[in-house]
Amino acid sequence: MFAETCVNENGCHLSALLEQAYAVQMDFNMLVDAVSQDAAFLEQTLSSTIKRDNFTARLFDIHKQVLKEGIAQTVFLGLNRSDYMFQRNADGSAALKQIEINTISASFGGLASRTPAVHRHVLNVLSKTQEAAKILSNNPSKGLALGITRAWELYGSANALVLLIAQEKERNIFDQRAIENELLARNIHVIRRRFEDVSEKASLDQDRRLFMDGQEVAVVYFRDGYMPSQYSPQNWEARLLLERSRAVKCPDIATQLAGTKKVQQELSRMGVLEMLLPGQPETVARLHATFAGLYSLDMGEEGDQAIAEALAAPSQFVLKPQREGGGNNLYGEEMVQALERLKDSEERASYILMEKIEPEPFGNCLLRPGSPVRVVQCISELGIFGVYVRQGKTLVMNKHVGHLLRTKAIEHADGGVAAGVAVLDNPYPV
Ligand code: ADP
Ligand code: MG
Repeated sequence: MFAETCVNENGCHLSALLEQAYAVQMDFNMLVDAVSQDAAFLEQTLSSTIKRDNFTARLFDIHKQVLKEGIAQTVFLGLNRSDYMFQRNADGSAALKQIEINTISASFGGLASRTPAVHRHVLNVLSKTQEAAKILSNNPSKGLALGITRAWELYGSANALVLLIAQEKERNIFDQRAIENELLARNIHVIRRRFEDVSEKASLDQDRRLFMDGQEVAVVYFRDGYMPSQYSPQNWEARLLLERSRAVKCPDIATQLAGTKKVQQELSRMGVLEMLLPGQPETVARLHATFAGLYSLDMGEEGDQAIAEALAAPSQFVLKPQREGGGNNLYGEEMVQALERLKDSEERASYILMEKIEPEPFGNCLLRPGSPVRVVQCISELGIFGVYVRQGKTLVMNKHVGHLLRTKAIEHADGGVAAGVAVLDNPYPV
């Protein structure tokens, strides 16, 4: 972990790219919110995927059930993180390209609020006080907590709690505590429970207000529930109960579906953004500028052609299933083998193909226990945290609330901090 990233003589202007990423965040918030409210678009977009991907199908079933019963929730809260890499252009400049947007359990807002002080301290110890002053301030945990606070206020029950759905073996608790502490400072109480606890001790009253251990819940904040392995049959029941409730879910099931790779791919199709965000050509243009090449693998000519292109130039593509949490994408030879296996099977519709982003590598030190400190070639991934709150049809909050920079050695195609590959970093704009 060290401060100086992406400053190279080829003119990777980090300040401009950072500014662009911040500027487009409110557009992404609006877009995710629009997708989550468009049941017809979600159904059409995911129709081929849910035939072949059981996890997405289960989520979609819950979405359908909630729609059928009628949505009790009136306040909606999005806490997301849009991730980018800096694509190296032929002329040596760099372009901001989105990797994906995380609409559930977007993490590291808490820890990223602490790392500027670490890097400033290291630089100050080295008497580099001017450099230390250049490390950007960053406090996503405060902004994320402000979003939860607004949703809690709009829910409108002074004694209601925030229910954080936590994993059984949570390794990232300190990241979450930073947000919990911000809420506690505003006198909003957070309880941490697992899906199992929900299925044993949660209930709905006749107005579908949610009660956990007898206490009313205003906001459910998921830090679990984004991977198949996190759901036993009992946990699926618990998720359905939460979704049926009046409590503000962060995210509600439709917003989780809006964050799937399949939706991301369909959003890049010509005319789709225009349909979802009518009369907003500037917003559409800002969003489009960050899209890399994304290709459907649905059966048919378009998918056949994408597969042929990927097989002809494997180093230029990534194959992605509908999964979160890292470590699921396929590259290079593994991608070729998978495509050969899938190419004549309907199963291919559960994947998408993406253009591989190639950032300019730079030398940096990754500080980690048990590893010697030495300069290695690295690439970075930038994330911007977005927060929005909607009451009925009215967007009452739409903000960006901070950034995350993760840096890893170039030999790792996939994997982030949780996978033990990347380290938390700070941008050092020049
Ligand atoms: P997940 O939802 O599992 O985190 P991502 O789409 O974020 O999946 O991919 C995981 C990691 O793989 C990213 O953090 C990035 O390092 C790498 N990656 C993903 N897509 C691309 C791409 N198009 N080009 C280059 N690297 C990519
Ligand atoms: Mg993700």
